[in-house]
Amino acid sequence: MRILIVDDSPHHQNMMVYELGKLGYSTSIATNGAQAIEAVAQERFDVVMADIKLKDMTGIELCWHLRTAQGLRHLYLILMIPGSMTDQFHELVEAGADEFLRKPLDWKWTAARLLAASRVVAMQRDLERLATTDALTGALNRRRFLERGAEEFTRSRRYDRPLSVVMLDIDHFKKVNDTHGHATGDEAIKMTVRCCKGTLRACDIIGRLGGEEFAIVLPETPPVNAFTAAQRVRELIAGSELPLEESDGVLRLTVSIGLAWMTPNDRGVEQLLARADAALYRAKNGGRNRVEMEPPIPLPRSLAG
Ligand code: GH3
Ligand code: MG
Ligand code: MG
Repeated sequence: MRILIVDDSPHHQNMMVYELGKLGYSTSIATNGAQAIEAVAQERFDVVMADIKLKDMTGIELCWHLRTAQGLRHLYLILMIPGSMTDQFHELVEAGADEFLRKPLDWKWTAARLLAASRVVAMQRDLERLATTDALTGALNRRRFLERGAEEFTRSRRYDRPLSVVMLDIDHFKKVNDTHGHATGDEAIKMTVRCCKGTLRACDIIGRLGGEEFAIVLPETPPVNAFTAAQRVRELIAGSELPLEESDGVLRLTVSIGLAWMTPNDRGVEQLLARADAALYRAKNGGRNRVEMEPPIPLPRSLAG
């Protein structure tokens, strides 16, 4: 569990880093509200422990910024309040605080409250995973994939960076189900995602759009590099063998892939996906187990094939 400490007293900061470290938590420090807002935008924290009196804003304002303005629902917000405070508790919770701890912190009490917080944080992570990933493959589900795709599109546009997308569909998959059963079909779908993850970069975004249809967003990737990556995925899948439970045999699969990339006229990632889909359609019609691009561009001789 990552904890951001927001406090302007160096003495307090040091003590908290030391005590929270003893409890096994990793910490970072922000000395005011603006720094805290910046820190949570840059890095994922689970818990923020903020003094209620900061130099540039109150702890209530900070809670409001994080919870309401930035919509960070996953953060567990703990305010550190003066020992003498007897009022305003309702207001603090309304602003977004989950918990308050009186200063000076009682470390046994704090440890217990952080243990309770860690349960909420773990549950939050589970819920998030369930809501955003496909249970069979661990790939992003359609909704989350489109959200992430839209984010990458905006980022690439703003910084004028290349962006490519791929649509991938397993060839003759109905026959796999019909011949070997649904369970083997599911294994084939899982293997496809494993192959994608195995060849692509960690920052590439893989989504399961439907049954045996996947889309991948490749940030920072111009078309020729995306084509090479797509060919690598296609070859790895075509070369893989899935052991069949019903016999000693193995199942071999191929996939067809459509590729598109961001052009100056595109207004959203959906346009790229639509072109990738058109390319996928051509790949299917062109005989399957191949990669097509939309619009087609001449490739270096070493890549064309
Ligand atoms: P094509 O080469 O043209 O893609 O032929 P295809 O047989 O693969 O056709 P299509 O892509 O339309 O096939 C989709 C099939 O995938 C239909 C459905 O029975 C199967 N399917 C969809 N979701 C699942 C799933 O979660 N598990 C399994 N085992 N099969 C699924
Ligand atoms: Mg198919
Ligand atoms: Mg399909």
